[in-house]
Amino acid sequence: MLDGCCPWPKELVDQYVSQGFWENYTLGDILDRTAWYFPKREALIGISPVNGETRDTYSELRSKVDHLALHLLRLGFKPNDRVILQLPNIPEFVYIYFALHRIGAIPVLCLPPHRLSEVGYIAQETDAIGYVIPSEFRGFDYLELAKEVQEKAPKLEKILVAGTDAPEGTIALAELLEDPLEDKYDEKYLKSFRPDPMNVAVFQLSGGTTGLQKVIPHTHNDYICCCKFSALMVGHNPYSAFLASAPIAHNFSLSAPGLHGTVYFGGKTVLALDASPETVMSLVEAEKITYLNGVPTMIINWLNYLEEAHLDLSALKVLAGGGFKVNAELGRRVKATFGFPVQQNFGMGEGFHACTRLDDPEERILGTQGQPLTPGDIVKVVDDDGVEVPRGEMGELWAKGPTVVRGYYNSEERNKEAFDPDGFYKTGDMVRQDSEGYLTLEGRNKDMINRGGEKISAEEIENLILGHPSVLNTAVVAMPDPLFGEKSCAYVILNTGKGLPFEDLKTFLLEKKIAKFKLPERLEVVEEFPLTSMAKVSKKELRADIAGKLDKENRDK
Ligand code: AMP
Repeated sequence: MLDGCCPWPKELVDQYVSQGFWENYTLGDILDRTAWYFPKREALIGISPVNGETRDTYSELRSKVDHLALHLLRLGFKPNDRVILQLPNIPEFVYIYFALHRIGAIPVLCLPPHRLSEVGYIAQETDAIGYVIPSEFRGFDYLELAKEVQEKAPKLEKILVAGTDAPEGTIALAELLEDPLEDKYDEKYLKSFRPDPMNVAVFQLSGGTTGLQKVIPHTHNDYICCCKFSALMVGHNPYSAFLASAPIAHNFSLSAPGLHGTVYFGGKTVLALDASPETVMSLVEAEKITYLNGVPTMIINWLNYLEEAHLDLSALKVLAGGGFKVNAELGRRVKATFGFPVQQNFGMGEGFHACTRLDDPEERILGTQGQPLTPGDIVKVVDDDGVEVPRGEMGELWAKGPTVVRGYYNSEERNKEAFDPDGFYKTGDMVRQDSEGYLTLEGRNKDMINRGGEKISAEEIENLILGHPSVLNTAVVAMPDPLFGEKSCAYVILNTGKGLPFEDLKTFLLEKKIAKFKLPERLEVVEEFPLTSMAKVSKKELRADIAGKLDKENRDK
């Protein structure tokens, strides 16, 4: 494995391979294999900023990917080069993503809302040499962002643009897809770059629970294992059709089962440019989507829309919900609308996943987040001292297995806290496990806000707020929200004699070039913070305080 990564011990590698969890295929191989089985079957449908609606069969997809991969080699990209991908759900994401796998380079997956603060930091952390962007998306100029990132991360030499506007000094993906290659760049040459399946395939980003985001190295083996088991759980087959409406770079859309699982079983992937009910539901109908996933916020919007819209959604067999807890009420609404229950999904970038099975009893589907994904998973529910609690009692979930990484990239210190010496990842999620192994999420003991599936590290935002001249101290906490589940609220103590209008604080934070979803959505100015018995700020009390205020405000309306 790449230097700076934590490999699995040899006994586990042998075990995972001999038990068939790891197949020693690469992500490039699964595309190859499916293109060989089903060359004429539709593989990918999406809207390209250059060519408009695009429909690729598996054979066309593979040709584009291979052609692009050979161009990458011609341009000097090498195995293990890190290349940041920050693209919306457009076909070019899939072409370049698999092309990088073909040559053993490593996609680093940023999300479209990330800004200089996130991308600049990740570029430095990963020593990225390439950055793939749209020229523009939702009114934001990514070419300008690329220039700023390059100033922060001088190793970032190559900017690839998926769009019609690729200025001088950048590389236009559309041209690479068209331009012919010299004879030496042939299939045999490309095959010589096939990576080792134990190599890092992808750098995912952690939800960022302490300070800035951590880089999660997934190998081909563990990531393929995750997509295969996730796909089996939802009954994927060559006739499956997956609609990706959450960002394709996120774990849930990419590998649980996501794009990978659909390619693995030869189904088609349809890319939605946004998650609005109009876009999503019209695609579900037109493309006869069989599998759809989303966070509860998205699902609530879709269900509300379907109360009025009358569409033929009969092809849909599974609606998976995750990223944030799907409560029983929402589960029941899914059943009332579609006639089948929601599939509960609980997972994390670090690779642990649990889900309900399609034929689980209804009370388990409505009331739990299911069972661990693979029979190779080992979970423990522990108390504050890391000692296992009896079944049925609440504790922190620790997990290891063939889909769970053994450490963050280049993070020796953080790894000591986040992983135990036996390789268990300490998820920070508080759960109960019942006698049959079903897990129910009860809360978390990590300092994070889960805004409808988008994770915000309280510490990261607090550090920025502390830079404001009017602020003496701050604590950022989650406040309940009917649609997003949680939003963030900033409690601040001001320097004496100074005021702080909320708009000023937001402007100050936006000037730090952070993703917009991380902005606090309420400011509470206080004289002092409640303290715990250990004299730490009691975020529990602050959360209760803001929840009480919101409740009262709603009642007074
Ligand atoms: P991420 O790595 O961004 O996918 O975030 C992972 C975290 O999201 C988990 O550790 C949980 O805290 C939360 N999460 C994921 N799925 C669920 C779910 N189904 N219910 C509640 N929380 C979830």
